[in-house]
Amino acid sequence: MKDKFLRFMYGRYGVDQFSKFLVITGIIFLLLSGFTRYGGILYLFSLAVLIYSYFRMFSRNHSKRYAENQLYLKYTAGIRKKFSAIRYGLSQRKHYHIYKCPSCGQKIRIPRGKGRIEIRCPKCNAHFIKKS
Ligand SMILES: [Zn+2]
Repeated sequence: MKDKFLRFMYGRYGVDQFSKFLVITGIIFLLLSGFTRYGGILYLFSLAVLIYSYFRMFSRNHSKRYAENQLYLKYTAGIRKKFSAIRYGLSQRKHYHIYKCPSCGQKIRIPRGKGRIEIRCPKCNAHFIKKS
């Protein structure tokens, strides 16, 4: 069974970032289609997106699929950067507190769980006390 699948996939393009984006988009629209008045249209749209994503995965035209993926990466670079910045911020928040200096507004990152501490602003040298 696995052999058959591998033989089927041999020479096929496979999954890339654009495919993943299409699959996620398709699934989101599929779920949304159950909740809205325009469900029928959304359902057809999501089906088309999912079929297209499968078509890309099984495609043998690697250069064309690669070019599509590059185009996708190029046009989404800004958004993806913003998202990864948000994700980074959230992961930082687990271990650090971000304080703003009361006198100059400089953001200061303090490790959590150290109790009441005096913080010195690295920019303007102001001192202030916070609970971390
Ligand atoms: Zn300051």
